[in-house]
Amino acid sequence: MWIFGRKSKEEPIYARKTVSIRMEAIGGQGANSAGKIFAEAAVLGMGYTGNHFSSFGSEKKGTPVKSFVRFSTEGKAIRTASFIKNPDVLVIFHESLLQTHPECLEGITAHTDLLINSTKSPDEIQFPLGFKVRKFATIDATTLALKHECGLNAIMLGAITKFCPEVSSDLLLKTFLRFFSHLPEQVQKHNAEGYEAGLKKTKEYLFEDSQASVDRPPEVLPRMGWENAPLGGLIVNPGNTILKDNSASRKGLLPRFLPEICFNCGYCDMVCPDYCFVWKFDPEKKQAPQLQGIDYQYCKGCQKCVVACPVQALVTVPEGELTAEEKSQHLFPQIHPKTKRD
Ligand code: SF4
Ligand code: SF4
Repeated sequence: MWIFGRKSKEEPIYARKTVSIRMEAIGGQGANSAGKIFAEAAVLGMGYTGNHFSSFGSEKKGTPVKSFVRFSTEGKAIRTASFIKNPDVLVIFHESLLQTHPECLEGITAHTDLLINSTKSPDEIQFPLGFKVRKFATIDATTLALKHECGLNAIMLGAITKFCPEVSSDLLLKTFLRFFSHLPEQVQKHNAEGYEAGLKKTKEYLFEDSQASVDRPPEVLPRMGWENAPLGGLIVNPGNTILKDNSASRKGLLPRFLPEICFNCGYCDMVCPDYCFVWKFDPEKKQAPQLQGIDYQYCKGCQKCVVACPVQALVTVPEGELTAEEKSQHLFPQIHPKTKRD
């Protein structure tokens, strides 16, 4: 989306001449809308010049999405529509991207401000050696979105304003509400509450060099498809299903299994699109298979099982609440050699 506007008479409190924002998210978290809203507020509201565009994975929920916003507070025409390599503000909508897509941190410099949706506080997060940012904040947007019954992007937009004083927070909220004005009034009210929560609960933090302590993984550049694609596009890796990891597709919410309530009816397993449920069958005991839990490696957090369970033995919780024990159930323990299973 390209937008051009007239320069406003109102000057920003803190003037960066150009600002570039890169949002790293997962399809369905609303990063594309957040980028559009931010660009609209900056250009049509503040009178800057700027643009926005997004880059999607395979155009479906659950794949990595990047959303880019550029604007100039001086009214210079922004003509470039390339990826933002060195962002002034980097926003990560899902903490797991740090593990599953470490390239999301690419291009950070000592001038970058970083915002991460995480249950951890900023001083608990460790980064690769040599990593530097200017300012840093985390916000538990997933839990806040659940609490306020709003979209994750409402919380994240509220939080972003901490790093972009060039765009008035009130104006951004108005743009956000206008963008979703077709939704029912109750939803708009929740979105406004979520936005305020994001704004209030985000505290800036100065980055400590000691947090840059993790060995940087070797950078592997993808080879061109024509150089390494198998002839005829054959899938020759026989383990591609077992090794599949859906954790990057989740939006931060997972089903929790409550074994004391479960009566092993199997409805959850019937609706699960990814066969995540781990059962135990002991022929000697002459009883029906017993549900042990969920293999979260394959779970994409769709919550279909939660809806299907007739006795609420599955409940939706933020991903960070699950214990290591709850995550230790595996359908294929042979690929998790450290895990002991009965
Ligand atoms: S949320 Fe439930 S139904 Fe959806 S993938 Fe995970 S276990 Fe399966
Ligand atoms: S649907 Fe609920 S009660 Fe039935 S097996 Fe699944 S968790 Fe247990």
